[in-house]
Amino acid sequence: MSKVLIIGAGGVGGVVAHKAAMEKTHFSEVMLASRRLAPVEKLAAEIEQMHGRKIQTAQVDADDVPALTKLLKDYQPKVVINVALPYQDLHIMDACLAAGVDYLDTANYEPPDVAKFEYKWQWAYQDRFAKAGRMALLGSGFDPGVTNVFCAYVQKHLLDEVHYVDIVDCNGGSHGKAFATNFNPEINIREITARGRYWEGGEWKETDPLSVARMFDYPGVGERKSFLLYHEELESLAKNLKGLKRIRFWMTFGEAYLKHLEVMQNIGITRIDEVEFEGKKIVPIKFLRALLPDPASLAANYTGKTSIGCLCEGVKNGQKKRYFIYNICDHAETYKEVRAQAVSYTTGVPAVTGAVMMVTGAWKGAGVFNMEQLDPDPFLEDVGKRGLPWHVEER
Ligand code: NDP
Repeated sequence: MSKVLIIGAGGVGGVVAHKAAMEKTHFSEVMLASRRLAPVEKLAAEIEQMHGRKIQTAQVDADDVPALTKLLKDYQPKVVINVALPYQDLHIMDACLAAGVDYLDTANYEPPDVAKFEYKWQWAYQDRFAKAGRMALLGSGFDPGVTNVFCAYVQKHLLDEVHYVDIVDCNGGSHGKAFATNFNPEINIREITARGRYWEGGEWKETDPLSVARMFDYPGVGERKSFLLYHEELESLAKNLKGLKRIRFWMTFGEAYLKHLEVMQNIGITRIDEVEFEGKKIVPIKFLRALLPDPASLAANYTGKTSIGCLCEGVKNGQKKRYFIYNICDHAETYKEVRAQAVSYTTGVPAVTGAVMMVTGAWKGAGVFNMEQLDPDPFLEDVGKRGLPWHVEER
């Protein structure tokens, strides 16, 4: 039994806190900490009322490394689950090293002033974590996260070599708002408006933002137009899958969403650089975030399903084979269970599973790890039982 500390009390943090509190076998105590105490206390009260477990609460600015180190040293968790924003990743990793605590996150570090999704900053911590005998698990959400583990499963059990991977992500749900993002708006819009990128024949190829699309038939949802995007798991999977020839990532967007995004880009409100406004400097996308619905607030009226998976093609015993491995998740069901929509749920559940892998020793090691570097079997068994059942089909 180990203590676990969660940082971030947004949409994903809420799911992690609920599911961690429901995990009574492996977590002796759960603490939820965030920059503002009010959302933390609201969640703690909801969790006590719904699951009958009291969790501890704290206020911390994770960018204040000494303050966070002190909290970690005082509380002594076995692992920190970082579900604040990608900007905090390096500071939280620094505090974990200073306090001798294992680390887990769901999104790779991004510098605030440039939308760049790369593992290089976090991979640079390899030696320090290895030397300290501590483990850092990167990207334990759904994508990245479960998608990496799906690929590891296909590589371990189904194919001798994985040649082509298409990761396909569909939110077929409806929240009834004209425009909203399903997770942090700033991070989400930075990701979608960045140039597309995929890996083929040993090199990265770039495309204009949202310029390449195809139809894909998503189990549980149906045919949807899907757009090629760069997504961070491509970087580690291109490195870690044997014999890979091409890997791409696709996500669905509705017409109304794309129209809003186009207008917002045209008027400059998605800009991430500072602009002068009435004698002050503001970053337009941060102002936009303040105007858009809080993703957690979408949950109550969300209907429909998410459907996310990996289409993997390669060879087994000299024969060409193709598999699709996926999960379907229902927004209304996740709301019933933990008061969250399925995008937060599909991120938060794998984060808790990753932490369970670490505290039980099912996944262990000293250094910085991406999900596909570890044994997929115990993770997939746990994540399925914890609320995200998965399926494999030969195509
Ligand atoms: P939210 O914006 O809803 O929540 C972020 C939380 O972090 C808020 O509680 C915020 O506090 C807190 N926070 C921000 N800065 C700090 C800080 N300096 N110190 C302490 N707490 C801080 O985001 P989401 O819950 O939607 O997303 C959380 C993470 O999950 C993001 O990194 C996102 O990229 C990742 N994600 C990963 C996915 C995957 O499949 N791998 C999918 C979806 C999301 P405050 O309220 O004060 O701002």
